[in-house]
Amino acid sequence: MTLKIYNVLTRKKEEFVPLVEGRVNMYVCGPTVYDYSHVGHAKTYGNFDVIVRWLRYLGYDVLYVQNITDVGHMLDTGEDRVLKKARQLSAEPMQIVETYMRQYFADMDALGIQRPDISPRASGHVPEQIEMIEELIAKGHAYEVNGSVYFDVTSFPEYGKLSGRVLEDQEEGSREAVRTEKRHPADFALWKKADPEHILHWPSPWGEGYPGWHIECSAMATKYLGPTFDIHGGGIDNIFPHNECEIAQSEAANDEPLARYWMLVGSLTLDGVKMSKSLGNTLTVREALERWPAEAIRTFILSSHYSSPIDFSDEAVEAARKGWQRIWSAVVLVREQLRRAPEGEISDEVDVLVDATKAAFTEKMNDDFNAPAALAVLQDFTRQVNTLLNEQGPQTSGSLAAIDQLYRELGGDVLGIIPDEAEMGADAEREEGLIRLLIELRAQARAQKDWATSDRIRDQLRELGVVLEDRPDGTIWKFE
Ligand SMILES: [Zn+2]
Repeated sequence: MTLKIYNVLTRKKEEFVPLVEGRVNMYVCGPTVYDYSHVGHAKTYGNFDVIVRWLRYLGYDVLYVQNITDVGHMLDTGEDRVLKKARQLSAEPMQIVETYMRQYFADMDALGIQRPDISPRASGHVPEQIEMIEELIAKGHAYEVNGSVYFDVTSFPEYGKLSGRVLEDQEEGSREAVRTEKRHPADFALWKKADPEHILHWPSPWGEGYPGWHIECSAMATKYLGPTFDIHGGGIDNIFPHNECEIAQSEAANDEPLARYWMLVGSLTLDGVKMSKSLGNTLTVREALERWPAEAIRTFILSSHYSSPIDFSDEAVEAARKGWQRIWSAVVLVREQLRRAPEGEISDEVDVLVDATKAAFTEKMNDDFNAPAALAVLQDFTRQVNTLLNEQGPQTSGSLAAIDQLYRELGGDVLGIIPDEAEMGADAEREEGLIRLLIELRAQARAQKDWATSDRIRDQLRELGVVLEDRPDGTIWKFE
């Protein structure tokens, strides 16, 4: 079974063949760190997290690079988001960047999103950016005007090949000074001259200035992954101009294709509307985590294909939470039973079920990382596990261990929605311990025929959403 990826560059689903067998070099455009991460970041980086986890599950040695934009993203108007925030708070720009970069990692950690192998920062790679700009000037792809350097789009005939946009479509630069400096309206800045009041600037062959946004990704991807690598990812919103400019810069400078497969993630709306600071409709990851468990948010994100848009609403996340809770309840039940299961080999029935589930899950994930379909396979498996446990009585340790292992691999390692005991938060562990203690106290009460206490424990637990079920071999519990 081979992995197929929808390649945005060729607009086709293609068989994935890495440049070097067994190895995947991957670059994903990272966040601009000037504010708290929002749920849109959770989708983009959550989707790539599962993509990387699946590649690793298949046995690939993945090198995952995701940059931190801490100086670039200078807009054509000359307004820089980091600088604006720094002025608002009367803080050092690097203080703002450091604060929100740490918060970004904390938020992604809380969502179970594994960290990239390298998180290069634009501010730490100015010499590499200058070097690439010099190369572009030497090759006739860029020109300097009044201390700024622009990329000459007419020198790169393939400009527009990713987004399908042609030069005639493009609007002119917004600022009059920039418009008169550029030879062609679609030319974009590689280096910008710093105004005297600009706080962040570096010396360069063209005077004091700062790099444009797009060049950082080209320079850092080349540095860590070489001129050509396997997968380039990002959010669909950045396909133009950002990704298009990256291709132009890298391919013009290196004379080699930038990435073999382009994977772009669909955007996230909040209650049907694009999130925007000015409209005041943003939801930060921190706020979302106060309302839902991380696993429920992940399940919601995985409930649509990575390339599709998704709408974040209370109802949709709540529905995902319920779906996740059904799987999690089954996992808790299986682990609970495994602790006191009779020793024994795996049954033929469970053996067949586990193999069939793995095969179906693999088929879905190998089809362009179809996580919603893979999630449905896991939900189907859960229904069958529940039937097995409810209708066929106690299972052997071999069967329960195989079921638990499948949940750990596919639900835990790949989808990241099933924590194992070590990863389980202290709260969840405490919760499980308290429930078990109450079950023990109830068993003691029953042994002493103290039915009032026994019923009270059962009823009050039910009010808290914990259902007890008495079986010949003991009491089990699950979330309602
Ligand atoms: Zn980028």
